[in-house]
Amino acid sequence: MTLLHEASCACCSGIKTMLDRRRFVGALIGGGATLTFAPQLALSAEGNYEAMVLACIDPRMQEPVHRYTVEQNLTGKFSQFVIAGAAIGVVAPAFKNWHKAFWDNLATTIELHRIKKVIAIDHRDCGAAKIAYGEAKVANPQVETETHRAALGQFRKQVGERHHQLGVETGLMALDGKMEMFI
Ligand SMILES: [Zn+2]
Repeated sequence: MTLLHEASCACCSGIKTMLDRRRFVGALIGGGATLTFAPQLALSAEGNYEAMVLACIDPRMQEPVHRYTVEQNLTGKFSQFVIAGAAIGVVAPAFKNWHKAFWDNLATTIELHRIKKVIAIDHRDCGAAKIAYGEAKVANPQVETETHRAALGQFRKQVGERHHQLGVETGLMALDGKMEMFI
């Protein structure tokens, strides 16, 4: 009798829906992180995204790099690889043990996210550049610019050799976020 009443009564069916919802949410909570990400479950890990951004681990660059990606309308549309020196971490002989990790990740993001380009963002006053090439190679802004120009050129060349269809953008960012692009 109670069941019949619930099924035919608008107020009770409303309560029943709430209870069902609570049970549903409870099941999601039981599934750990599932609840937080439930709305996005419909999205595949694969897809068509715009870019991979390669940046340095320097904490000062988090915000400027973030601002740059917002300005470029890349929010939610790029994968990212963060490594000391950015492009320097990928091409400098001093960091040769790291190189494979980058190239494997680039190949993976091309396969999974079908990115159209990779954007390498080196930055000024980079400690990794000093480690890789020595103090003299970053002694003043002009020398520093040439050091990064060479590393970013090497990066473009190596990307081209591995993924000739992929676009490559390379830039040197000042600590205030100002980008100087190299072609
Ligand atoms: Zn750095």
